[in-house]
Amino acid sequence: MSACGLHFFIPDYIQTALRTLEAAGFEAYLVGGCVRDALMGVTPEDYDITTSALPEQIKALFGTEYKTIDTGMKHGTVAPIIEGHAVEITTFRIDGSYSDNRHPDSVRFSAKLFDDLSRRDFTVNAMAFSPTTGLADCFGGQEDLQKRCIRCVGEADKRFGEDALRMLRALRFSAVLGFTVEEQTANSIHKNIGSILNVSAERIYSELKKLLAGDNCAAVLRRFPCLLQTVLGITPSPTQLAALEPEATVGFRLAVLFIGEDCGRLKSLKPDNKTFRYCSDLVRLYAIPLGMEQASPGALFLWMRAHQADCATMEALLELHRRMECAFAYEALCESLAEARLKNLPLTAAELALSGEDLKKSGFSGREIGEKTEQLITAVLAGRCENTRGALLAYLSEE
Ligand code: ATP
Ligand code: MG
Repeated sequence: MSACGLHFFIPDYIQTALRTLEAAGFEAYLVGGCVRDALMGVTPEDYDITTSALPEQIKALFGTEYKTIDTGMKHGTVAPIIEGHAVEITTFRIDGSYSDNRHPDSVRFSAKLFDDLSRRDFTVNAMAFSPTTGLADCFGGQEDLQKRCIRCVGEADKRFGEDALRMLRALRFSAVLGFTVEEQTANSIHKNIGSILNVSAERIYSELKKLLAGDNCAAVLRRFPCLLQTVLGITPSPTQLAALEPEATVGFRLAVLFIGEDCGRLKSLKPDNKTFRYCSDLVRLYAIPLGMEQASPGALFLWMRAHQADCATMEALLELHRRMECAFAYEALCESLAEARLKNLPLTAAELALSGEDLKKSGFSGREIGEKTEQLITAVLAGRCENTRGALLAYLSEE
């Protein structure tokens, strides 16, 4: 890594790419998210380069020394592999008209950096930086970074009309960075949110997931109830929105939002199975009565067995109840859960101190083994027997 102006640390392999392009007489800049992050003092996750060189010229220039990947020749992107990193280099571009709210009908290459910055979504994402020429900020991106504000480049209605996903990106950046959405940009989102449905479910979910991982997500959902109404058909209550905080996983936050709702709506956004199962399990369990009757280790495990809740899910469920401010036995249930684990109470057959083999040796066979195991688990959880091999064998012989 080496340092340059603006405290911008640029890894050597990126410096190499920039220098190679400039040495051949082309303009080359870092652009977009990496410039935004660096100006905020955050180490960028990846670096995008924009250049006046055409895709074929980029290929020819790097091809002699590096392997290159044509990641998107049509859109002007070539990625040479430098020091093991695929460095995405994209020709300055003007996006053509948009007829589907999502994809430009065509892209044109340009010789001007200004054109490339103009097509970008938000002012804070529309800055370029080169170690030789410094920062290019044509739309007040630095000022908006200082104001902590997300503002469209150009007219919001037009930009969201071109690509409806940008609305979700604006809200995502606001949730993740804790920035406010500038007034005209915000008004335009309220007005145009319906067209988000022209965007594929996968893309909506991918942005929504990032939004829900953001520290500021509750504030964003409060200010833009239209988002969840449009993409999921749900209107969470103020208590639910408050329960999103403090930090939590995306699965947990989805469960908060879906309390009392049918999780089938979430399925339509094609979430990954793990997150969907986590969310729908919590929502299902939340609807089942739970209270002082379960506030002993054995009773709690019996409830969990009856409703297929493992310990991790139970912990999350208790947290969900706590955040939803239900007047219920939160403390007592947490203690019961901890005590049940400490005492090694059996939640599953595998946790019973007597195995199927042991039962076979005691003369049981076939279905009896499963039935006996269930009986023994219940006996332990009801406090009639300890979960030790000796105690369980003695209990069997007494029966
Ligand atoms: P992050 O990578 O942290 O999600 P990012 O700003 O780098 O944020 P990318 O999706 O990697 O986002 O896009 C890189 C850059 O490309 C953006 O900073 C922005 O300049 C531009 N960009 C991305 N998507 C769009 C879009 N839908 N419309 C206009 N410009 C976009
Ligand atoms: Mg990025």
